[in-house]
Amino acid sequence: PVRLDRVSFSYGEAPLVFDVDFAASKITAIMGPSGSGKSTLLNLVAGFETPRSGRVLIGGVDVSAEPPSTRPVSMVFQENNLFAHLCVEQNVGLGRSPSLRLTEADRAAIAEALARTGLGGKEKRLPRELSGGERQRVALARVLVRDRPVLLLDEPFASLGPALRDDMLDLVATVHAERGMTVLFVTHQPEDARRIGQDMVFLDNGLVTATGKADDFFTGAGPEAFRRYIGGAG
Ligand code: ATP
Ligand code: MG
Repeated sequence: PVRLDRVSFSYGEAPLVFDVDFAASKITAIMGPSGSGKSTLLNLVAGFETPRSGRVLIGGVDVSAEPPSTRPVSMVFQENNLFAHLCVEQNVGLGRSPSLRLTEADRAAIAEALARTGLGGKEKRLPRELSGGERQRVALARVLVRDRPVLLLDEPFASLGPALRDDMLDLVATVHAERGMTVLFVTHQPEDARRIGQDMVFLDNGLVTATGKADDFFTGAGPEAFRRYIGGAG
């Protein structure tokens, strides 16, 4: 599991406080208004931000002092995921080897991830020669070949059209069924959370205000603040 144990954080203004457990091997959808702290939460788990107090635990191990490179996580960011001077294949290959010295097994895994994300035939393109949605799919392919126990997705598919978005969500769900990693999935789209979310965490104003089974949130049993939020956003 992933646990934020009384983690406090602040960019200098209002403090954000996270005290929350994410179930192991589940897909947890994380929702909440813009500015509520969703990206910050993922950045704390990945190690791109450091708590002011409290601890970040992954699989029971305190990783608070570890840099991002040694944490057992991989992340797809909201934007700017790719290296501009590297082609699609190389950007994905970085998920296997930071030096891009690739074995046959690496190359097979990369080809499979490119096929599964619908990028076959675009291996040699540079990021600027791709659409926004294609770039996000390259980022997804890279975390698929990286194959870490914790997968962090920060609104990865916002730039994709609805049909392709559903395909990518289903791919995440399929890979999750195959590998059983712990997935933290930030989204603004209630239908996306509903499609693949098993658990749900709702943030409001830098605080976790509700947690539970995703189904319960969408069958009327969810907290009042969540219903009001999707009433406006959904
Ligand atoms: P969105 O849905 O718009 O992506 P979010 O829930 O991911 O929002 P965060 O990016 O975690 O929100 O931001 C939480 C709060 O921290 C916001 O008030 C935001 O303005 C502030 N914030 C985020 N990043 C920084 C930063 N680098 N410097 C200062 N303040 C920041
Ligand atoms: Mg964000």
